[in-house]
Amino acid sequence: MTRILVVEDEEHLADGLRFNLEAEGFDVDTIADGDAAVEALTGGGRDLDLVILDLMLPGVSGFEVLRRTRASGNYVPVLILTAKDDTEDRVRGLEEGADDYLAKPFRLEELLARARGLLRRRRWDGVADEAPPEPVAIGASTLHFDRFELETPDGVVNLTTREMGLLRALVEREGEVVSRGELLERVWGLRPDTRTRVVDSFVVRLRRYLETDPSRPRHLLSVRGHGYRLLR
Ligand code: CA
Repeated sequence: MTRILVVEDEEHLADGLRFNLEAEGFDVDTIADGDAAVEALTGGGRDLDLVILDLMLPGVSGFEVLRRTRASGNYVPVLILTAKDDTEDRVRGLEEGADDYLAKPFRLEELLARARGLLRRRRWDGVADEAPPEPVAIGASTLHFDRFELETPDGVVNLTTREMGLLRALVEREGEVVSRGELLERVWGLRPDTRTRVVDSFVVRLRRYLETDPSRPRHLLSVRGHGYRLLR
């Protein structure tokens, strides 16, 4: 059964989400504060399929929950709930490793659509009759589009949806420079001129998986002032 954790301190909202997600056939747990969320997400119980995370929480903030979750090596898809029109929160959430965001107040149908999207994107997200691209080799690693995995000499890495999106955008334009703005728009749905280091921090993380010596990259190259270029 698909398991979803809702981290939200507003009781009526948490209850409403649980009720509606359960009606969709999901198994739902709720947690109402940041510290308990950190414990749940960095401890043993990692058999979750999706986390819906409010940013404003008692105890540590949602940002901190996210940061510690990712630092512990847990890459469960995370949908953050941000204040309306707060681009700064949205960008910071993505920088800390959120997979998607939704501004409060939101319509329930919208939340369900995002949740289904994130659950589906754990697998190939092409339209029904389109086969996933064949796996591609990047250096000593192999990227599997159909299961969001990067097979490296040190083991299999489960990619988040945005990590996969970034690699896919670069693989499709192999050898060409792809600008930071274009990547922000295509992979994160942000305006090309958004001030953020999110692309750069993702590249740093992907280099740790892909490069023999991440400080001297041979596959994920920075092109100063322009963007990034992938060489297989
Ligand atoms: Ca809250």
